[in-house]
Amino acid sequence: MSDFDYESRIVSIPDYPEKGVIFKDITPLFADSDGLVHLVDDIADHFLGRGITKVVGAEARGFLVGAPVAYKLGAGFVPARKPGKLPREVYSQSYSLEYGTDELQIHKDALKPDDVVLIVDDLVATGGTAAATAKLVEQSGARIEGFSFILELTFLNPREVIAKEFPDREVYTL
Ligand code: 5GP
Repeated sequence: MSDFDYESRIVSIPDYPEKGVIFKDITPLFADSDGLVHLVDDIADHFLGRGITKVVGAEARGFLVGAPVAYKLGAGFVPARKPGKLPREVYSQSYSLEYGTDELQIHKDALKPDDVVLIVDDLVATGGTAAATAKLVEQSGARIEGFSFILELTFLNPREVIAKEFPDREVYTL
């Protein structure tokens, strides 16, 4: 947990995208130069020295977090994308949403079994996206070192969902 005031740079939007949901808009945090430096430094400094070779982030806000964190760690960045976006052979993983299912994919050659992976996203809610991303990483044989997010909706217990399938992996939230 960082001392930096992330909360004042995140805007809560009631009833978006549907009634009863409070959407956390992280775009002001990224637009703030201090905010961007702090979030990237906080995540990267926390995982520095743990041998991370690849950062994996899910479409689309995971890209915003993942690429600068990877740069700072001296690691590569691998995008997990929605179906039909990646042009070469992919691993696929479907996961449940509140209504229906969705799917994420990574290129088969993006990760190797000796890679050490940090999975990132802007926000973890149910943990479904993070767990699906982790299963994609597992398909490649790479090792998952941990997960990191800016925001965690603790009332949805995402840590339980992640720990059920990936026990002993650190979940670090700003
Ligand atoms: P989960 O799969 O953990 O239920 O949902 C997390 C995913 O949905 C993340 O990829 C995240 O970007 C997106 N998401 C869900 N709710 C919000 C929200 O309120 N704000 C933002 N910025 N992203 C959200």
